[in-house]
Amino acid sequence: MKVCEITGKEKVNTYEVAQRRIREAVARLGLAEDVYEWLKSPDRIVEASIPVEMDDGKIKVFTGYRSQHMDLLGPYKGGIRFHPDVDAYEVKALSIWMTLKCAVARVPFGGGKGAVSCNPRQMSQKELERLSRQYMRSMASFLGPQRDIPAPDVGTNAQVMAWMADEYGKIQQYNDFGVITGKPLDMGGCVGRNTATARGVVYAIREAAKVKDLSMKRATAAVQGFGNVGYYTAVFLEDMGTTVIAVTDSGGGAYNPAGLDVEALMEFKKETGSVKGFPESEDIDSDALFALDCDVIAPCAMENQITRDVACNVQAKIIAEGANGPTTPEADKVLKENGVLVVPDILANCGGVIVSYFEWVQNNYNYYWTEEEIEARLQMKMVEAFNHIYNYQCECEDSPDMREAAFMYAILRLANVMKTRGWIN
Ligand code: GLU
Repeated sequence: MKVCEITGKEKVNTYEVAQRRIREAVARLGLAEDVYEWLKSPDRIVEASIPVEMDDGKIKVFTGYRSQHMDLLGPYKGGIRFHPDVDAYEVKALSIWMTLKCAVARVPFGGGKGAVSCNPRQMSQKELERLSRQYMRSMASFLGPQRDIPAPDVGTNAQVMAWMADEYGKIQQYNDFGVITGKPLDMGGCVGRNTATARGVVYAIREAAKVKDLSMKRATAAVQGFGNVGYYTAVFLEDMGTTVIAVTDSGGGAYNPAGLDVEALMEFKKETGSVKGFPESEDIDSDALFALDCDVIAPCAMENQITRDVACNVQAKIIAEGANGPTTPEADKVLKENGVLVVPDILANCGGVIVSYFEWVQNNYNYYWTEEEIEARLQMKMVEAFNHIYNYQCECEDSPDMREAAFMYAILRLANVMKTRGWIN
Protein backbone atom coordinates (compact mmCIF):
# COMPACT_ATOMS: atom_id res chain seq x y z
CA MET A 1 0.00 0.00 0.00
CA LYS A 2 1.62 3.24 -1.13
CA VAL A 3 1.59 6.15 1.29
CA CYS A 4 0.55 9.22 -0.63
CA GLU A 5 -0.79 11.86 1.66
CA ILE A 6 -0.33 15.16 -0.09
CA THR A 7 -0.95 18.09 2.19
CA GLY A 8 0.31 21.06 0.26
CA LYS A 9 3.76 21.76 -1.08
CA GLU A 10 6.71 20.87 1.08
CA LYS A 11 9.04 23.63 2.13
CA VAL A 12 12.59 22.46 2.55
CA ASN A 13 15.52 24.28 4.12
CA THR A 14 18.60 22.12 3.69
CA TYR A 15 20.35 23.40 6.84
CA GLU A 16 17.26 22.84 9.00
CA VAL A 17 16.88 19.38 7.49
CA ALA A 18 20.47 18.50 8.42
CA GLN A 19 19.90 19.77 11.96
CA ARG A 20 16.59 17.96 12.32
CA ARG A 21 18.10 14.67 11.19
CA ILE A 22 20.91 15.07 13.75
CA ARG A 23 18.47 15.94 16.54
CA GLU A 24 16.39 12.86 15.78
CA ALA A 25 19.44 10.59 15.72
CA VAL A 26 20.78 12.02 19.00
CA ALA A 27 17.39 11.44 20.64
CA ARG A 28 17.10 7.92 19.26
CA LEU A 29 20.54 7.08 20.58
CA GLY A 30 19.61 8.50 23.99
CA LEU A 31 22.66 10.81 23.91
CA ALA A 32 22.99 14.05 25.84
CA GLU A 33 21.52 17.18 24.29
CA ASP A 34 25.12 18.58 24.31
CA VAL A 35 25.98 16.28 21.43
CA TYR A 36 23.25 17.86 19.32
CA GLU A 37 24.25 21.36 20.42
CA TRP A 38 27.81 20.71 19.27
CA LEU A 39 26.91 19.05 15.98
CA LYS A 40 24.13 21.37 14.88
CA SER A 41 26.35 24.18 13.58
CA PRO A 42 29.87 24.47 12.16
CA ASP A 43 32.94 25.33 14.23
CA ARG A 44 33.31 28.35 11.98
CA ILE A 45 32.27 29.68 8.60
CA VAL A 46 34.39 32.09 6.62
CA GLU A 47 32.63 34.38 4.17
CA ALA A 48 34.80 36.36 1.77
CA SER A 49 34.28 38.96 -0.92
CA ILE A 50 36.32 37.79 -3.87
CA PRO A 51 37.10 40.45 -6.47
CA VAL A 52 37.88 39.03 -9.90
CA GLU A 53 38.88 40.82 -13.07
CA MET A 54 36.56 39.68 -15.81
CA ASP A 55 37.59 39.43 -19.46
CA ASP A 56 35.98 42.79 -20.24
CA GLY A 57 38.35 44.46 -17.76
CA LYS A 58 35.65 45.10 -15.14
CA ILE A 59 35.90 43.84 -11.56
CA LYS A 60 33.17 41.51 -10.33
CA VAL A 61 32.94 40.72 -6.64
CA PHE A 62 31.87 37.13 -5.85
CA THR A 63 30.91 35.77 -2.44
CA GLY A 64 32.93 32.77 -1.32
CA TYR A 65 32.47 30.52 1.69
CA ARG A 66 34.29 27.86 3.65
CA SER A 67 32.37 26.15 6.40
CA GLN A 68 34.42 24.08 8.84
CA HIS A 69 31.96 21.91 10.67
CA MET A 70 33.93 19.62 12.93
CA ASP A 71 37.50 18.28 13.13
CA LEU A 72 37.27 15.78 15.98
CA LEU A 73 38.14 12.80 13.76
CA GLY A 74 40.77 14.61 11.67
CA PRO A 75 41.26 17.73 9.53
CA TYR A 76 38.18 19.33 7.95
CA LYS A 77 37.50 17.80 4.54
CA GLY A 78 35.08 18.53 1.75
CA GLY A 79 34.60 19.94 -1.70
CA ILE A 80 34.26 23.45 -3.11
CA ARG A 81 31.12 24.13 -5.11
CA PHE A 82 30.74 26.76 -7.84
CA HIS A 83 27.03 27.34 -8.29
CA PRO A 84 24.76 30.40 -8.67
CA ASP A 85 22.32 29.31 -5.93
CA VAL A 86 24.70 28.61 -3.04
CA ASP A 87 24.39 30.50 0.20
CA ALA A 88 25.85 30.23 3.69
CA TYR A 89 23.08 27.90 4.89
CA GLU A 90 23.62 25.41 2.11
CA VAL A 91 27.37 25.39 2.66
CA LYS A 92 26.88 24.83 6.39
CA ALA A 93 24.51 21.95 5.72
CA LEU A 94 26.90 20.37 3.23
CA SER A 95 29.75 20.64 5.73
CA ILE A 96 27.65 18.77 8.31
CA TRP A 97 27.07 16.05 5.72
CA MET A 98 30.83 15.75 5.21
CA THR A 99 31.49 15.20 8.93
CA LEU A 100 28.94 12.40 8.95
CA LYS A 101 30.11 10.99 5.62
CA CYS A 102 33.72 10.74 6.79
CA ALA A 103 32.56 9.07 10.01
CA VAL A 104 30.51 6.53 8.01
CA ALA A 105 33.37 5.89 5.56
CA ARG A 106 35.81 5.58 8.48
CA VAL A 107 38.34 7.95 6.95
CA PRO A 108 40.25 10.11 9.48
CA PHE A 109 38.70 13.43 8.54
CA GLY A 110 36.19 15.92 9.84
CA GLY A 111 33.76 17.83 7.68
CA GLY A 112 34.00 21.03 5.70
CA LYS A 113 32.59 22.57 2.54
CA GLY A 114 33.38 25.54 0.40
CA ALA A 115 31.49 27.41 -2.27
CA VAL A 116 31.42 30.41 -4.51
CA SER A 117 28.19 31.90 -5.68
CA CYS A 118 28.84 32.11 -9.43
CA ASN A 119 27.78 30.53 -12.68
CA PRO A 120 30.84 28.67 -14.01
CA ARG A 121 29.04 27.87 -17.28
CA GLN A 122 28.95 31.55 -18.12
CA MET A 123 32.59 32.20 -17.30
CA SER A 124 35.67 31.82 -19.51
CA GLN A 125 38.56 29.57 -18.45
CA LYS A 126 40.66 32.63 -17.65
CA GLU A 127 37.91 34.08 -15.46
CA LEU A 128 37.53 30.75 -13.68
CA GLU A 129 41.27 30.59 -13.12
CA ARG A 130 41.35 34.08 -11.62
CA LEU A 131 38.37 33.23 -9.39
CA SER A 132 39.97 29.96 -8.21
CA ARG A 133 43.29 31.62 -7.40
CA GLN A 134 41.58 34.52 -5.65
CA TYR A 135 39.42 32.11 -3.62
CA MET A 136 42.61 30.37 -2.48
CA ARG A 137 44.22 33.69 -1.55
CA SER A 138 41.20 34.54 0.61
CA MET A 139 41.05 31.15 2.30
CA ALA A 140 44.68 29.96 2.43
CA SER A 141 45.22 30.80 6.09
CA PHE A 142 42.26 28.58 7.07
CA LEU A 143 43.37 25.62 4.91
CA GLY A 144 46.29 23.19 5.00
CA PRO A 145 47.05 19.46 4.76
CA GLN A 146 46.60 19.06 8.52
CA ARG A 147 43.90 21.71 8.88
CA ASP A 148 41.31 21.73 6.10
CA ILE A 149 41.54 19.94 2.74
CA PRO A 150 39.18 20.94 -0.10
CA ALA A 151 38.27 18.86 -3.17
CA PRO A 152 36.01 19.14 -6.23
CA ASP A 153 32.24 19.37 -5.93
CA VAL A 154 29.40 20.56 -8.18
CA GLY A 155 30.78 23.01 -10.79
CA THR A 156 34.47 22.42 -10.01
CA ASN A 157 36.97 19.87 -11.34
CA ALA A 158 40.61 18.80 -11.38
CA GLN A 159 41.62 21.95 -13.28
CA VAL A 160 40.11 24.19 -10.60
CA MET A 161 41.94 22.14 -7.94
CA ALA A 162 45.18 22.56 -9.93
CA TRP A 163 44.88 26.36 -9.97
CA MET A 164 44.10 26.40 -6.27
CA ALA A 165 46.95 24.01 -5.37
CA ASP A 166 49.33 26.06 -7.50
CA GLU A 167 48.23 29.26 -5.78
CA TYR A 168 48.62 27.66 -2.36
CA GLY A 169 52.13 26.55 -3.37
CA LYS A 170 52.98 30.13 -4.33
CA ILE A 171 51.71 31.43 -0.99
CA GLN A 172 53.66 28.79 0.97
CA GLN A 173 56.70 29.08 -1.32
CA TYR A 174 56.77 25.30 -1.80
CA ASN A 175 54.47 22.63 -3.29
CA ASP A 176 52.21 21.27 -0.61
CA PHE A 177 50.01 18.92 -2.61
CA GLY A 178 48.21 17.47 0.43
CA VAL A 179 46.27 20.75 0.83
CA ILE A 180 43.72 19.76 -1.78
CA THR A 181 42.52 16.52 -3.38
CA GLY A 182 41.02 15.73 -6.76
CA LYS A 183 44.07 17.27 -8.46
CA PRO A 184 45.35 16.34 -11.93
CA LEU A 185 47.72 13.35 -11.96
CA ASP A 186 50.94 15.30 -12.58
CA MET A 187 50.23 17.56 -9.59
CA GLY A 188 49.94 14.80 -7.00
CA GLY A 189 46.51 13.61 -8.10
CA CYS A 190 45.34 10.05 -7.60
CA VAL A 191 44.44 7.60 -10.35
CA GLY A 192 40.74 6.84 -10.22
CA ARG A 193 39.77 9.93 -8.17
CA ASN A 194 37.71 11.33 -11.04
CA THR A 195 35.54 8.22 -11.23
CA ALA A 196 35.64 7.32 -7.52
CA THR A 197 32.31 8.76 -6.41
CA ALA A 198 30.44 6.94 -9.17
CA ARG A 199 32.36 3.72 -8.62
CA GLY A 200 31.37 3.90 -4.98
CA VAL A 201 27.73 4.55 -5.88
CA VAL A 202 27.69 1.46 -8.08
CA TYR A 203 29.34 -0.71 -5.39
CA ALA A 204 26.67 0.54 -2.99
CA ILE A 205 23.97 -0.39 -5.52
CA ARG A 206 25.51 -3.84 -5.97
CA GLU A 207 25.49 -4.46 -2.19
CA ALA A 208 21.93 -3.14 -1.90
CA ALA A 209 20.89 -5.40 -4.78
CA LYS A 210 22.14 -8.41 -2.79
CA VAL A 211 19.90 -7.36 0.10
CA LYS A 212 16.97 -7.01 -2.27
CA ASP A 213 17.78 -10.26 -4.07
CA LEU A 214 18.13 -8.41 -7.33
CA SER A 215 20.45 -9.43 -10.15
CA MET A 216 22.52 -6.51 -11.45
CA LYS A 217 22.53 -8.17 -14.87
CA ARG A 218 18.76 -8.25 -15.11
CA ALA A 219 18.16 -4.90 -13.42
CA THR A 220 17.06 -1.66 -15.03
CA ALA A 221 18.19 1.76 -13.81
CA ALA A 222 17.48 5.46 -14.21
CA VAL A 223 20.02 8.19 -13.47
CA GLN A 224 19.20 11.80 -12.67
CA GLY A 225 22.12 14.06 -13.59
CA PHE A 226 24.75 13.51 -16.26
CA GLY A 227 27.74 15.35 -14.80
CA ASN A 228 30.77 13.55 -13.39
CA VAL A 229 28.85 11.40 -10.90
CA GLY A 230 25.78 10.69 -13.05
CA TYR A 231 27.72 9.90 -16.21
CA TYR A 232 30.17 7.47 -14.59
CA THR A 233 27.41 5.89 -12.53
CA ALA A 234 25.60 5.11 -15.79
CA VAL A 235 28.85 3.81 -17.33
CA PHE A 236 29.63 1.48 -14.40
CA LEU A 237 26.03 0.27 -14.18
CA GLU A 238 26.25 -0.64 -17.85
CA ASP A 239 29.56 -2.43 -17.16
CA MET A 240 27.80 -4.53 -14.54
CA GLY A 241 25.20 -5.55 -17.09
CA THR A 242 22.43 -3.27 -15.82
CA THR A 243 20.24 -1.63 -18.48
CA VAL A 244 20.18 2.16 -18.13
CA ILE A 245 16.76 3.16 -19.42
CA ALA A 246 16.64 6.86 -18.60
CA VAL A 247 18.94 9.80 -17.93
CA THR A 248 18.11 13.43 -17.28
CA ASP A 249 20.29 16.54 -17.07
CA SER A 250 19.52 20.22 -16.52
CA GLY A 251 18.41 20.55 -20.16
CA GLY A 252 15.96 17.61 -20.27
CA GLY A 253 16.04 13.83 -20.46
CA ALA A 254 16.22 10.73 -22.62
CA TYR A 255 14.22 7.55 -22.06
CA ASN A 256 14.30 4.25 -23.89
CA PRO A 257 12.81 1.21 -22.13
CA ALA A 258 15.11 -1.03 -24.21
CA GLY A 259 18.17 0.78 -22.84
CA LEU A 260 20.37 3.75 -23.73
CA ASP A 261 23.92 3.55 -25.04
CA VAL A 262 25.65 5.60 -22.34
CA GLU A 263 28.82 6.38 -24.32
CA ALA A 264 26.80 7.49 -27.36
CA LEU A 265 24.61 9.56 -25.04
CA MET A 266 27.69 11.39 -23.73
CA GLU A 267 28.91 12.02 -27.29
CA PHE A 268 25.47 13.45 -28.08
CA LYS A 269 25.55 15.66 -24.98
CA LYS A 270 28.99 16.98 -25.90
CA GLU A 271 27.65 18.01 -29.31
CA THR A 272 24.30 19.46 -28.26
CA GLY A 273 24.75 20.44 -24.61
CA SER A 274 22.07 18.06 -23.30
CA VAL A 275 20.89 14.45 -23.43
CA LYS A 276 17.50 15.73 -24.57
CA GLY A 277 16.68 14.72 -28.13
CA PHE A 278 19.03 11.69 -28.17
CA PRO A 279 18.09 9.52 -31.19
CA GLU A 280 15.73 6.64 -30.46
CA SER A 281 14.70 8.03 -27.12
CA GLU A 282 11.65 9.78 -25.76
CA ASP A 283 11.90 13.06 -23.86
CA ILE A 284 11.47 12.70 -20.11
CA ASP A 285 11.71 15.09 -17.17
CA SER A 286 13.12 14.31 -13.75
CA ASP A 287 9.78 13.80 -12.02
CA ALA A 288 8.77 11.26 -14.68
CA LEU A 289 12.19 9.59 -14.36
CA PHE A 290 11.61 9.04 -10.64
CA ALA A 291 8.24 7.43 -11.44
CA LEU A 292 9.62 4.93 -13.97
CA ASP A 293 9.04 1.23 -13.65
CA CYS A 294 12.67 0.29 -13.01
CA ASP A 295 14.72 -1.38 -10.28
CA VAL A 296 17.27 1.26 -9.37
CA ILE A 297 17.27 5.05 -9.34
CA ALA A 298 20.45 7.06 -8.80
CA PRO A 299 19.78 10.75 -8.12
CA CYS A 300 23.13 12.35 -9.02
CA ALA A 301 22.18 16.03 -9.35
CA MET A 302 21.25 18.44 -6.58
CA GLU A 303 19.48 18.63 -3.21
CA ASN A 304 15.75 18.17 -2.56
CA GLN A 305 14.84 16.46 -5.83
CA ILE A 306 12.78 13.64 -4.33
CA THR A 307 10.02 15.41 -2.43
CA ARG A 308 7.04 13.67 -0.85
CA ASP A 309 4.96 14.01 -4.02
CA VAL A 310 7.75 12.57 -6.15
CA ALA A 311 8.34 9.75 -3.63
CA CYS A 312 4.71 8.67 -3.86
CA ASN A 313 5.29 7.61 -7.47
CA VAL A 314 8.57 5.76 -7.00
CA GLN A 315 8.37 2.17 -8.18
CA ALA A 316 12.08 1.32 -7.94
CA LYS A 317 13.36 -1.05 -5.26
CA ILE A 318 16.60 0.83 -4.62
CA ILE A 319 17.51 4.51 -4.57
CA ALA A 320 21.24 5.20 -4.30
CA GLU A 321 22.05 8.85 -3.63
CA GLY A 322 24.98 9.97 -5.75
CA ALA A 323 24.07 13.58 -4.93
CA ASN A 324 24.15 15.14 -1.48
CA GLY A 325 20.72 15.59 0.08
CA PRO A 326 18.48 14.68 -2.88
CA THR A 327 15.65 13.27 -0.71
CA THR A 328 13.54 15.35 1.68
CA PRO A 329 12.56 14.03 5.14
CA GLU A 330 8.90 13.83 4.10
CA ALA A 331 9.86 11.77 1.06
CA ASP A 332 11.94 9.49 3.27
CA LYS A 333 8.85 8.59 5.29
CA VAL A 334 6.96 7.62 2.15
CA LEU A 335 9.84 5.58 0.75
CA LYS A 336 10.33 3.76 4.05
CA GLU A 337 6.63 2.94 4.25
CA ASN A 338 6.73 1.63 0.69
CA GLY A 339 9.76 -0.58 1.30
CA VAL A 340 12.15 1.27 -1.00
CA LEU A 341 15.76 0.73 0.07
CA VAL A 342 17.36 4.19 0.11
CA VAL A 343 21.14 4.06 0.31
CA PRO A 344 21.74 7.53 1.77
CA ASP A 345 24.19 10.09 0.38
CA ILE A 346 26.60 9.89 3.32
CA LEU A 347 27.07 6.21 2.47
CA ALA A 348 26.30 5.92 -1.26
CA ASN A 349 28.55 8.74 -2.45
CA CYS A 350 31.41 8.39 0.06
CA GLY A 351 33.65 6.80 -2.60
CA GLY A 352 34.80 10.32 -3.57
CA VAL A 353 36.13 11.20 -0.16
CA ILE A 354 37.54 7.70 0.31
CA VAL A 355 39.77 8.14 -2.75
CA SER A 356 40.48 11.73 -1.64
CA TYR A 357 41.83 10.12 1.53
CA PHE A 358 44.03 7.82 -0.56
CA GLU A 359 45.25 10.85 -2.52
CA TRP A 360 46.11 12.72 0.68
CA VAL A 361 47.92 9.70 2.13
CA GLN A 362 49.97 9.38 -1.10
CA ASN A 363 50.77 13.12 -1.04
CA ASN A 364 51.96 12.83 2.56
CA TYR A 365 54.13 9.81 1.72
CA ASN A 366 55.10 11.06 -1.72
CA TYR A 367 54.66 7.49 -2.91
CA TYR A 368 51.94 6.61 -5.42
CA TRP A 369 49.81 3.51 -5.79
CA THR A 370 48.56 1.82 -8.97
CA GLU A 371 45.05 2.09 -10.32
CA GLU A 372 44.44 -1.57 -9.37
CA GLU A 373 45.45 -0.84 -5.78
CA ILE A 374 43.19 2.19 -5.58
CA GLU A 375 40.21 0.34 -7.03
CA ALA A 376 40.67 -2.68 -4.78
CA ARG A 377 40.96 -0.47 -1.67
CA LEU A 378 37.97 1.63 -2.70
CA GLN A 379 35.86 -1.44 -3.25
CA MET A 380 36.91 -2.87 0.10
CA LYS A 381 36.08 0.37 1.95
CA MET A 382 32.72 0.75 0.21
CA VAL A 383 31.64 -2.81 0.97
CA GLU A 384 32.84 -2.39 4.55
CA ALA A 385 30.93 0.89 4.96
CA PHE A 386 27.77 -0.59 3.46
CA ASN A 387 27.95 -3.62 5.75
CA HIS A 388 28.69 -1.53 8.85
CA ILE A 389 25.55 0.53 8.27
CA TYR A 390 23.40 -2.36 7.10
CA ASN A 391 24.37 -4.54 10.06
CA TYR A 392 23.92 -1.64 12.45
CA GLN A 393 20.46 -1.03 10.99
CA CYS A 394 19.54 -4.69 11.45
CA GLU A 395 20.72 -4.63 15.08
CA CYS A 396 18.64 -1.55 15.99
CA GLU A 397 15.41 -2.40 17.73
CA ASP A 398 13.34 0.55 16.53
CA SER A 399 13.72 -0.26 12.79
CA PRO A 400 15.47 2.80 11.43
CA ASP A 401 15.79 3.19 7.68
CA MET A 402 19.30 3.15 6.26
CA ARG A 403 19.69 6.93 6.47
CA GLU A 404 18.63 7.00 10.10
CA ALA A 405 21.02 4.14 10.80
CA ALA A 406 23.87 5.92 9.00
CA PHE A 407 23.26 9.10 11.01
CA MET A 408 23.13 7.14 14.25
CA TYR A 409 26.27 5.19 13.42
CA ALA A 410 28.19 8.37 12.54
CA ILE A 411 26.92 10.33 15.52
CA LEU A 412 27.76 7.52 17.89
CA ARG A 413 31.34 7.61 16.62
CA LEU A 414 31.45 11.39 17.05
CA ALA A 415 29.93 11.24 20.54
CA ASN A 416 32.52 8.62 21.50
CA VAL A 417 35.38 10.82 20.39
CA MET A 418 33.87 13.79 22.25
CA LYS A 419 33.93 11.59 25.32
CA THR A 420 37.45 10.27 24.69
CA ARG A 421 38.71 13.82 24.31
CA GLY A 422 37.08 14.66 27.64
CA TRP A 423 34.40 17.05 26.44
CA ILE A 424 31.32 15.10 27.47
CA ASN A 425 30.68 12.45 30.10
N1 GLU B 1 32.61 16.82 -2.94
C1 GLU B 1 32.68 15.42 -2.64
C2 GLU B 1 31.64 15.05 -1.61
O1 GLU B 1 30.67 15.75 -1.40
C3 GLU B 1 34.08 14.97 -2.29
C4 GLU B 1 34.68 15.57 -1.06
C5 GLU B 1 36.14 15.24 -0.85
O2 GLU B 1 36.68 14.43 -1.55
O3 GLU B 1 36.71 15.84 0.06
O4 GLU B 1 31.71 14.00 -1.03
